[in-house]
Amino acid sequence: MLNIVLFGPPGAGKGTQSEKLVEKYGLVHISTGDVFRGLDPESDLAKLAKSYSDAGNLVPDEITIKILESEVSKYPKAKGVVYDGFPRTRAQAEALDVFLRGKGTGVTMMLSLVVSEDELKQRLLSRAEVSGRKDDADIGIIENRIKNYNKDTAPVAGFYKSQDKLFEIEGVGSVEAIFDSLCIAIEQLQD
Ligand code: ADP
Repeated sequence: MLNIVLFGPPGAGKGTQSEKLVEKYGLVHISTGDVFRGLDPESDLAKLAKSYSDAGNLVPDEITIKILESEVSKYPKAKGVVYDGFPRTRAQAEALDVFLRGKGTGVTMMLSLVVSEDELKQRLLSRAEVSGRKDDADIGIIENRIKNYNKDTAPVAGFYKSQDKLFEIEGVGSVEAIFDSLCIAIEQLQD
């Protein structure tokens, strides 16, 4: 299986690039952010998740890991998966390893999109105009998301680096140019 962790701060372009990777390599796209936003809004789980995400905080690991595992289990025949927005903590990375090992597979690689904080803030504020997402519309919430990323999520790259699975990709430029860089990294590894 080709299991790609597409990594990077909020606004790095993970969603956009995931769609393209899925199309080119025939993979399944799993975005925990999309899964949370797709829950029945009246359910307790959706309300709980929203109470964290609207404030720019991470949903607790226990809930997120369960949601992720049940989502992956929907695609038993997948050739591979693009994990977008997961794992976002060390505990999630460890849980993913255990989960995939149980299925006789593992994470192939982490592709990490590198984008400066100023650029991220600009992108998220512009995205707010089309996404309607509360967490994109407020600079204070955006800054909290970036702060949480730097504190809890950025260290997850080290987890994969120590396994020689980390590939850093410049995340500024045209969507096509960034996509080409991602494909080169994937194809180098597969050779
Ligand atoms: P972005 O990458 O732009 O921040 P996402 O759609 O990936 O947006 O995530 C939106 C929100 O959903 C996050 O701010 C967080 O509250 C929640 N979330 C998504 N994935 C996770 C995760 N793996 N762990 C904890 N919370 C998550």
